[in-house]
This record gives sequence, structure tokens and C-alpha cells, in this order.
Amino acid sequence: MAEKQKPRFIMCICTGQCPGFSTLNLWELINYVRGELDVEYAIVHPQLCVDDGDRFIHDYIKPNVKYVIGACDPKMQRKMFKDAFADAGGNYDEQVISLDLRNMSTQDAMNKVKETIESIK
Ligand code: SF4
Repeated sequence: MAEKQKPRFIMCICTGQCPGFSTLNLWELINYVRGELDVEYAIVHPQLCVDDGDRFIHDYIKPNVKYVIGACDPKMQRKMFKDAFADAGGNYDEQVISLDLRNMSTQDAMNKVKETIESIK
């Protein structure tokens, strides 16, 4: 039987210019997630909710893999990504755990991602 896929972490950083992420040290967070947590890998995308983000999702999403997405409001994420996942043959509601990491310290964001990754069975 194939080994269970580990979750993948995607950080969407809102172009890097959004004040909502100004309290976050992106590289400290991403290196912590990829180095310390039980993920397949961790990546950064600058702006998932625009056309090139849709194209990225279309190329990138695989069935039966969990994606933890750190970004903005989970309700907004669902609206913005659900169709792109479906177009890619995925299922947003089954595959994604979305986290709102805005206005957080780096430590708080690391803790939130850690709890989420550890909660995935
Ligand atoms: S998905 Fe959310 S965090 Fe990412 S660019 Fe769009 S609004 Fe910003």
C-alpha cells in the first residue's frame, strides 16, 4: 500500500505589501514549517487569488493530498479557491485547511500552523 501523503503547506503572502502580514517574518515561518513540522514541504505564493494563482492551483493540486493554506479569512479563501480546486480535479472542502494568519506575530503563526499540522490524521 502507498505511504500516506504528508500535508503540504502553502503560504499566500498577499503580494508582500499587505499590512495584514507586516507583523509576520515570512521566512522564519516558512523555514520553521518545512524544517520542524511533519509536512511534505512548504512553499510561498505571492497572490493565490488572482489569475496566475488559479493557474498555479490548476497545475499543482493532486487528489488525496491535504493542503494547509496560510492566508486571509477562511471564508474568503473558500470563495476564491473552491472552483480552482474543482477545475484541477480536487475537492477544496475535503483537502484544504485554511488558516487566517493575518495580524499575528511570527510565533503565534508558527503555533497555529503546528497545531493544524499535528491535528491532521
Ligand atoms: S488569497 Fe488572501 S492572502 Fe492571498 S493574496 Fe488573496 S487576499 Fe491576499
